[in-house]
Amino acid sequence: MAGVVNSGVLRRLEAVSAVASSQCNEQWSPHEPQIHRTHNMKIEMKEIVRRCRKVTSPFRIVKGKDFGLKDIDPGDTLWFTDKDKPRAKKAHEVGVRALAELQDKLYAQDKWAVLLIFQAMDAAGKDGAIKHVMSGVNPQGCQVFSFKSPSAEELDHDYLWRCMKVLPNRGHIGIFNRSYYEETLVVRVHPESLARQKIPPSLVTKNIWNQRFEEIRNFEQYLARNGVVVRKFFLHVSKKEQRRRFLERIENSDKNWKFSANDAAEREHWRDYMEAYEDMIRQTASDEAPWYVVPADNKWFTRMVVASAVIETLASLDLRYPEVDKDKLKELAAAKAALAKK
Ligand code: ATP
Ligand code: MG
Repeated sequence: MAGVVNSGVLRRLEAVSAVASSQCNEQWSPHEPQIHRTHNMKIEMKEIVRRCRKVTSPFRIVKGKDFGLKDIDPGDTLWFTDKDKPRAKKAHEVGVRALAELQDKLYAQDKWAVLLIFQAMDAAGKDGAIKHVMSGVNPQGCQVFSFKSPSAEELDHDYLWRCMKVLPNRGHIGIFNRSYYEETLVVRVHPESLARQKIPPSLVTKNIWNQRFEEIRNFEQYLARNGVVVRKFFLHVSKKEQRRRFLERIENSDKNWKFSANDAAEREHWRDYMEAYEDMIRQTASDEAPWYVVPADNKWFTRMVVASAVIETLASLDLRYPEVDKDKLKELAAAKAALAKK
């Protein structure tokens, strides 16, 4: 889809671009198209999407075979510097509004569902990214679920069960804050979690991780074939930045509640986690359910990449408002005539 943004968004884009300084071609933000007055201030969604793609493409993994986490620097901010932060913020606001308008069509059309999966080490910024990216969307069309250590009821079922129960409805955006991927991460790093799952012992072999990857690939293919569009985000924070954020949580009383001693203990397993994440991305990146490995040492950049990815995803669908048929047009005309009389 490459429809034109409606006039509300157009006006806002124009306002933002007016404050943007004139820059060389590469120094734009994805949601902040440069406006050439000679083009009659006309900006198309197509242009926003093109720029979003440029920002996300270095981080979008569709073929995992040769992927290495070392290929992506957690501190990467592409051609943006710290000085661009205020502009990135403004552009982000515009992006969020564009996203809201795409979501409105998604909801009205009621055909596609979108599932956004967020995985990361603690303090990588999952919650903040989710909050910021979804800040402008209509809550009626959006569902967020957080997956913690499984409950007794959840352990009494297969591992996909709790996620399947809360897949997004058509027309909705579903967000998984952690997901079934924990089954290849924390459960792999801590085998005692696997022991708690009550799987018949004869089924737990050394192949279990490859089997889970296969199951997840098949599940995501099934979703894709049923109109559930899956996009997965790994927020890639460095160990050093995580330490800084933990210390901030300890030192700042308003952030104390965010800190748990267990989070710090998990740092001891950093290398195991990185290996598990790398394997997970290698084995489950696909055209229909790509991974975005998003540099997460700079929150403003993380949010920009995530918002861009969501915009490009929605824009790739054939979203449009449902067309009104003849009968409906007649009904509208009759209602208008009746209202005019009163
Ligand atoms: P926050 O950013 O607030 O810390 P969080 O996602 O880390 O958010 P927590 O309540 O701190 O939430 O942690 C949830 C914990 O549940 C994580 O340590 C995660 O690894 C664990 N978890 C999630 N799914 C599973 C699973 N299937 N098996 C075992 N542990 C799981
Ligand atoms: Mg936590």
